[in-house]
Amino acid sequence: MAGTLYVVATPIGNLGDLSPRAQQVLAQVDFIAAEDTRVGAKLLNRFEIKKPQISYFEHNRRAKGEQIAARLEAGESCALITDAGTPAISDPGTDLVDICAQRGIPVVAVPGPCAAIAALSIAGMDCGRWCFEGFLSVNKKSRREHLEDIRGERRTMVFYEAPHKLLRTLEDLHQVLGDRPIALVREITKIHEEVYRTTLAQAVEHYRENPPRGEFVLVLAGAPKPQEDEAPPDPMEAVEALLAQGCSISEAVKRAAKELGVPKNSIYNQAMERFSQKE
Ligand code: SAM
Repeated sequence: MAGTLYVVATPIGNLGDLSPRAQQVLAQVDFIAAEDTRVGAKLLNRFEIKKPQISYFEHNRRAKGEQIAARLEAGESCALITDAGTPAISDPGTDLVDICAQRGIPVVAVPGPCAAIAALSIAGMDCGRWCFEGFLSVNKKSRREHLEDIRGERRTMVFYEAPHKLLRTLEDLHQVLGDRPIALVREITKIHEEVYRTTLAQAVEHYRENPPRGEFVLVLAGAPKPQEDEAPPDPMEAVEALLAQGCSISEAVKRAAKELGVPKNSIYNQAMERFSQKE
C-alpha cells in the first residue's frame, strides 16, 4: 500500500507557530522533503526531531518528484515542507501533489501559517472576496500583462514582494491601477511586525524616502464599483421635446416610447394630462 504525502505548513517567523500536529507528523514520517534542508534542519533541531531530509526545490522538482513518488509508492511516508509557510503557495509543492494525485498516492494537508492569510486577517481590508496574485513577474512583458489583467479586478488583491523590489512594484501598481487603499503587512509574527494602512500614492512616496526592509505582503483594494447608473430618462421630457419639434401628442408618445424602450400605453395618459391643454 502506498504511503502518504503530508503537506506541512511551517512558521513564517515565529517558531512557536508550528502546530502540535505538524510536529507529530514530522516526527512520524519516514523522510522529509524540504525546499532547503538547512532551513529544515533548524526547524527540526528546535523541536528535537531527528529525521532524514532530501531537498525538493524549484530546479530539481522534476527528478526529485519522481524519486519521492517512487518511495511513496513503495510504502514510505513523506512530509513536504518549504522555507516558510504553506507549501505550494508561491512555493514548491504543486507538482509533487499533482504527481501523487495522478498515481493515487494519498495527500494529506497539515495546515498552518500562510503569509497571505495572516496578512489579510490583520490588513483591515475587505476579506469578503479576495484573490491571490503572488509575485509580479520581473519579466517586463508578463509583468505588464499581469497588471493589465488586474486593472478592473474588483476583489481585494494579495501580493507577495521582496523588499528590494517593493518600490518598483508599488510604482507600477499605482501607474496602472491608479490610487487606492493598500495595506502593507510586514514581518508577520516577527519582532518588527507592522501594518501600514495607506494609499498607493502615499506608499510610493513613503518608500522613496524610507527604503523598505523585511518581508512584505501587499493587500490592495479592488477597483471601485462603477458609478451607479444615472436615473433613467424621464419620458415626459422626451415627449415635451418632440412636441416642441411640432409632433402631435400621440406621435410624440409613440416616438418617445420607442426611443426609451417603454410601452406606449404606460406614458400616454400622463402625456395627455400634462400636455393636452398646450397642444
Ligand atoms: N509559502 C509561503 C506562505 O505560505 O506564505 C510563501 C512563500 S513566498 C516564497 C515568500 C513570500 O511570502 C515573501 O516574499 C513575502 O512576500 C511573504 N512572506 C513570508 N513570510 C512573511 C512574513 N513573516 N511577513 C510578511 N510576508 C511574509
